[in-house]
Amino acid sequence: MASSPKEYNVYKSVERQFNKAAEKMGLDPDVRAILSKTNTETVVNFPVEMDNGEVRMFTGYRVQHNNVLGPYKGGLRFHPEVDINEVRALASWMTWKSAINEIPFGGAKGGITFDPAEVSFRELEHISRRFTYALGNVIGPEYDIPAPDVNTNAQIMAWILDTYLLMQPTHERARCMHVVTGKPIESGGSLGRDRATGQGVVYCIEQWATDNKFDLKGSTYFVQGFGNVGSWTAKLMKPHGAKMVAVADATGNFVCPDGADPDELIAYMDKQARERDELRKARQEDKIRALGPIGVKGYPGLKEVDKATFLATKADIFVPAALENQITNETAKTLNVRLVAEGANGPTDPDGDEILWSRKIDVIPDILCNSGGVIVSYFEWLQNKRSEYWKVSDVVSKLKEKIVGDEQQPGGYLRVRDAAKEFNVDWRTAAYVVALRRLEKVYKERGIWP
Ligand code: NAD
Repeated sequence: MASSPKEYNVYKSVERQFNKAAEKMGLDPDVRAILSKTNTETVVNFPVEMDNGEVRMFTGYRVQHNNVLGPYKGGLRFHPEVDINEVRALASWMTWKSAINEIPFGGAKGGITFDPAEVSFRELEHISRRFTYALGNVIGPEYDIPAPDVNTNAQIMAWILDTYLLMQPTHERARCMHVVTGKPIESGGSLGRDRATGQGVVYCIEQWATDNKFDLKGSTYFVQGFGNVGSWTAKLMKPHGAKMVAVADATGNFVCPDGADPDELIAYMDKQARERDELRKARQEDKIRALGPIGVKGYPGLKEVDKATFLATKADIFVPAALENQITNETAKTLNVRLVAEGANGPTDPDGDEILWSRKIDVIPDILCNSGGVIVSYFEWLQNKRSEYWKVSDVVSKLKEKIVGDEQQPGGYLRVRDAAKEFNVDWRTAAYVVALRRLEKVYKERGIWP
């Protein structure tokens, strides 16, 4: 999927995107110098005792890009291809996302370089806890707040929360529940956080459809990645009467011209998760590993194809929701869609962007399209600070206000749409312009001292 870190440096893409927007808007050179660097970069090497009694060393990262708008905020990724450049890129995208949506957070990201499918449940817990311990005060509820990303979930957030709390003085613990977001509901999570990113993607697609007088009923789309973001996006496209005609995940690339039902596909994967839970209870971790990753493969009606055929699927909308570097110089020429709605972070590289622009394929860029996750993370953080529990209907309506808004109170989407017109640029550049304008204003108001 994503090229190995040695072949592809995603941070170079960020630099190109950033520089393009900075030129277009005439960003103040001092602010440009500040934002073109990350604030801090932490690398931790830490030991974990594995099930067989051997000690294995792991390498983890936390990169804090900028905190001028508020505490650092961003997810943790567990994946064999995590490296410092990927984490830098993901951290800076978080800064722009919060700025676009006027969320009082800065940008950070972290991760550990390993494949979670190759470790047991118990080992996963130990890795998560030792990483938290190794990070120490690099994270904190008012300073830097992690969340889930690829291969991390609410369970892992609960372990991180628990470990962090145990590292605090007893009387401080109750005040630190907001050290991570994306927690299980019972452990202080927010209703609606699980669907938040997919919901935000669909709100953006709805607004795009309205703007373009495009009827989603009977439209077709395909999704790359059927995890948190991909599956929720598909589930929430269903009530619009849109048909999912292809889907890919770690188990392969598949087409389904008659349409696959997202709810049935999710149920198919839930069944695999339950089977693995049973094996885990029976302490048969070897059997779990032999089964491989949970995925869509084997679902009736899916026809396996190669990746090039998958990416060339004819449809109205493509939702990349897996990893970076998918829409490139080569693949952008083969896309057969009207709209790319980026659920994933960094699925399109700058060469791919230029080709999509020249082919008049619309793009709702990642830093806008998938920002529902950080928006609802902010709501979770607020609820924890105020000891409140909001209704799911309140969470999603507040999310829509932030990510789309209306003419009276524009949200991220409308701000980016207006900036694209004002500067006559593609939407990614416009999204950067919206973020950079806000950050530039704050730096100018506050100044640099001493
Ligand atoms: P996830 O771990 O829940 O799902 C990842 C999906 O990608 C899985 O279906 C997996 O099988 C698939 N995948 C892995 N390797 C693949 C390959 N080689 N080919 C095709 N598919 C492959 O992760 P997620 O949280 O859904 O994150 C997906 C993307 O969305 C990432 O880019 C992430 O940074 C971004 N994102 C996530 C959130 C969030 O709230 N979870 C928020 C914003 C952005």
